[in-house]
Amino acid sequence: MMRVGQGYDAHSWADDDRPLVIGGVHFPGHRGLAGHSDADVITHAVIDAMLGAAGLGDIGQLFPDTGKEFHGADSLEMLRRVAKMVDDAGWTLANADCTVIIDQPQIAPVKDEMESNLSNAAGGAVTVCGKRTEGIGALGRGEGVVAIAVALLERK
Ligand SMILES: [Zn+2]
Repeated sequence: MMRVGQGYDAHSWADDDRPLVIGGVHFPGHRGLAGHSDADVITHAVIDAMLGAAGLGDIGQLFPDTGKEFHGADSLEMLRRVAKMVDDAGWTLANADCTVIIDQPQIAPVKDEMESNLSNAAGGAVTVCGKRTEGIGALGRGEGVVAIAVALLERK
């Protein structure tokens, strides 16, 4: 038996000097994304895809942005907790695939590192693809970053 889930996440660019973290990769000196946790947009999309596939709710229910506990939280650690929940519910991750829509910084040079970070935390193969906005819409105007993900779970 298999189940599929999808995830979507969006974060606007931050006005303060918080660090940029995407797929667990830090980009020193680059403007960060606004958010309650570390605002790791890809990791959040993967979390929602896995939770959706397992029928375990969503990221907002598990890690409420009203709680002090998750302020500045490491999203890879959140993904590890979700992977444990999914495992406890009798599922294993077949694979997850993510697209992040972003102009800068470029994803290609750090794609392998992101995939390694995400795969280790999720307990299964996670692939990442970076796509540029081609200047279209709010993302093309540099207002933020969007990531989407799908995850496939198999019954253990
Ligand atoms: Zn998010």
